Amino acid sequence: MAHAEIRDSTRGWTSRDAAELYNVHSWGAPYFGVNEAGHVVVHPNGNEGFQMDLYELVSDLRRRGFSPPLLIRFSDILKARVDELCGAFQMAIKDSEYQGAYRGVYPIKVNQQRHVVEELAEYGRPHHLGLEAGSKPELLVAVALLDDPEALIICNGYKDKAYIETALLSQKLGRRTIIVVDRYREIDTILQVSKELGIRPNIGVRARLTTKGAGKWVESTGDRSKFGLTTTEIVEVVERLKKEDMLDCLQLLHYHIGSQITAIRAHKDALREACRILTELYKMGASMRYIDCGGGLGVDYDGSSTNFHSSMNYNLREYAADVVAALAEACKTAGMPHPDIVTESGRALTAHHSVLVFNVLGANEVLGNRPPQPVKPEEHAIVRKLDEILQGVTRKNVQESYNDALEVKEESIVAFSLGVLNLRERARCEEMFWAICERILKVIKELEYVPEELEGLEKALSDTYYCNFSLFQSAPDHWAVKQLFPCMPIQRLTERPQRRAILADLTCDSDGKIDEFIDLRDVKHALEVHPIDNGKPYFIALFLVGAYQEVLGDLHNLFADTDAVHVKLVEGGYMVEHAVKGDTIGAVLEYMEYDKNDLVRRMRKAVEQSLRGKQITLDESGKLMQRYEDALNSYTYLATGE
Ligand SMILES: *Cc1c(COP(=O)(O)O)cnc(C)c1O
Repeated sequence: MAHAEIRDSTRGWTSRDAAELYNVHSWGAPYFGVNEAGHVVVHPNGNEGFQMDLYELVSDLRRRGFSPPLLIRFSDILKARVDELCGAFQMAIKDSEYQGAYRGVYPIKVNQQRHVVEELAEYGRPHHLGLEAGSKPELLVAVALLDDPEALIICNGYKDKAYIETALLSQKLGRRTIIVVDRYREIDTILQVSKELGIRPNIGVRARLTTKGAGKWVESTGDRSKFGLTTTEIVEVVERLKKEDMLDCLQLLHYHIGSQITAIRAHKDALREACRILTELYKMGASMRYIDCGGGLGVDYDGSSTNFHSSMNYNLREYAADVVAALAEACKTAGMPHPDIVTESGRALTAHHSVLVFNVLGANEVLGNRPPQPVKPEEHAIVRKLDEILQGVTRKNVQESYNDALEVKEESIVAFSLGVLNLRERARCEEMFWAICERILKVIKELEYVPEELEGLEKALSDTYYCNFSLFQSAPDHWAVKQLFPCMPIQRLTERPQRRAILADLTCDSDGKIDEFIDLRDVKHALEVHPIDNGKPYFIALFLVGAYQEVLGDLHNLFADTDAVHVKLVEGGYMVEHAVKGDTIGAVLEYMEYDKNDLVRRMRKAVEQSLRGKQITLDESGKLMQRYEDALNSYTYLATGE
């Protein structure tokens, strides 16, 4: 039981302080900020000139019948990201007089939602942005949605005959489909199907580089990775194609070193190795028209610009410039014409555009808001001893003060068990102990180096805020790989946040919580929040959740898809498009093979029995059935009362 309170509120507090505290400008620029009213604002087109008040938007959406947790997708951010990525490559190409074009593709697996893929296809059209399919279902999406003959469809993943047939036949619709040989055996099927159909394939090979990625997803590279051909296998593919007189079909070299590559160094090393393979293939007679550098372009989730796992030590422009420069150099050395450049950046395109907003349902505050009452001279000696420690905490003696406090706290427990202290006095000792911890915490926040023993203090001193969302549904990577997402209240930002909290979700799982938050220095173990004012909703938003989270989300405790809306700027304001209501309880139960009618029938039967046994009244039975049937048609999350 401790104070989660942040005291020392002598100075005023403005929304600028809040922006700094939550580091909004580092991770959020140019799309997110804080306004004078103390609300989070969104600049959907990345332009300061136009802003939307996120808190007002949530209020509007609630009036339109949507409920938190609410996933808001900003279509204009998606557009801005497409322009930014393609623009960076176009600029780099111009700057180094590169002869090839940039032909990015969006990997569908990163966010397969129809509206997201459709919008990307639309916004990508001027840049001939293509699609990458990693499976048969994704290929079906790609060939139907992409009708730009200049844009590429890259086929990765496990392929059977049907997959390859579909890919080859799609060429007859004018699609520029490239089949990437991911595993050596696939070349047999490709050649066989191509002969049967009489269609010459566009073939790519995926190289298994020895260069390692960096960060949490390194397993997709290296000698033991699941996909990719060794150099021996690549040479064999060349020989096979040559024998069939089809070496001109080999046009693309692909590699992928993992997602969220945090260090530019890893990109450069991989590219260097890939360039060598590319130019060698050219020399062997393949008509290499494309190099596909895969995904891995990072997102700076914590805004620290470092090679920390949730950050990246480079930006999009450097990435593009480095790729183009390295290729130009390699081609020059080899006397090879410049190939078109493909990247499969998914995270970098989609992460920014989605925001999850949820409300806090209640709080478990550690020991209320108040500082301890001043200690009086007549209080027990142990209490006075603790008070002395409290008064003496300085930057220099935090470790010592903490040890002393622990020792005296032990003493108080012994004294209590011996009957020397009464319950009230023991409680008083506890209160003083936490006050000491609180003060120490404040001091260590300003230290460069935090003694290891004190690292757990912040966690121990935080409140728990119970929140209306499921981590497993909406931000599974925080649970699975400890990825950090920026997170902050969206209102009351002109008020100093006086509490520190961890955020617990609705599931019964003890892992269903957010207890690591972004910080410029490593991670924070609690989020600064405001005391909740019962009766008034308090909203917290989780940002940059547009990549991977929705599609990896699961039905833990049967909390299902949230309400989702696309918000798009229009002349004079915004409009809500493609609103998708979250799943109902009934729908989720049906995924699990329950039958709604059968459940209701069983309930009716039980009710009838209880009526006959007079355990339930008619009115009660009516109410129970009403509740039951209403619930089946309702949202899986909790209703928010005003
Ligand atoms: C997952 C994946 C991507 C997307 O990577 P990001 O890091 O999200 O850009 C690209 N290519 C392949 C082959 C992938 O498996």
